[in-house]
Amino acid sequence: MKRTLRQHTRQRLGQHFLIDSGIRNRILESLRLTSTDAVVEIGAGRGFLTEALAHQAKKVWAVEIDPQLALGLKAQFISTPHVEIMVEDILQFDFRALARPLGGEKKLRVVGNVPYFISSPIIFRLLDCGDCIQDATLMLQKEMADRITASPTSRDYGYASVATQLCSRATHLFAVPPKSFFPPPQVQSAVIQLTMASRSQELAISDTKSFLKFAQQIFTEKRKTLLNNLKRFLPGNRPETSRQLMEVFDQCQLDSKIRAENLSLEATARLYAVLRQRGMLC
Ligand code: SAH
Repeated sequence: MKRTLRQHTRQRLGQHFLIDSGIRNRILESLRLTSTDAVVEIGAGRGFLTEALAHQAKKVWAVEIDPQLALGLKAQFISTPHVEIMVEDILQFDFRALARPLGGEKKLRVVGNVPYFISSPIIFRLLDCGDCIQDATLMLQKEMADRITASPTSRDYGYASVATQLCSRATHLFAVPPKSFFPPPQVQSAVIQLTMASRSQELAISDTKSFLKFAQQIFTEKRKTLLNNLKRFLPGNRPETSRQLMEVFDQCQLDSKIRAENLSLEATARLYAVLRQRGMLC
């Protein structure tokens, strides 16, 4: 009975523990930690990565939602005072409160073999706290890693790519096979690195939140053309909106058959600015 419960918890929390020290070393190498760095580890699990981080960083906050695993971590790091175990849900985690005492100069380094089923909300939360995070090095399901780092014209390019690439420089680091974990997941994995740096100013995006809402809308139905997607969510009466949209497409030098996935971030920002200028966005 106990065992089944434990297995259930594992599945529910996406627990696949890294057991491959070669992969752990590659993650550490890509981090290039210094002895002044403050690290937040997402989903510390059994402390396999935590242990290595503790050797190199000034401070490690190891966040783990599973109280049983957290107990094990507390015992493991009892005589390592610069490792603090925090039994919390990373989706509710207050990154800003941790970063505040570091002063504006120093930002958090984030790392984690994250639970795959909540990797999107985790990434969006990290992007949202980009002002207090230097970078995030994350183990993700391969498909998610591909979407995040995709370039326009690729099939994987979509809202996740736009949001991530607006708020950070996203790099695909390396692939990780299922056998590097216990229990092995049924999917391939990959490690990516997001170096936080907003491009909003450079792209003249005055309101990042509203731009991201716009980006989400134009990717709602990826197979439809951009024009048809826009017609669906823009307010106003249809024939008038259609006519105005054709003018906007002309002004932005966009083909009327283009799909959102073929728009560069620059072109998306320009389209957004023109629609906004004309008062066509709500
Ligand atoms: N990094 C560890 C474990 C990775 S598995 C290792 O490589 O050994 C993912 C971990 O995230 C699990 O320990 C799981 O309990 C934890 N987790 C799941 N959901 C979480 C959440 N919302 N907040 C914090 N940790 C979570």
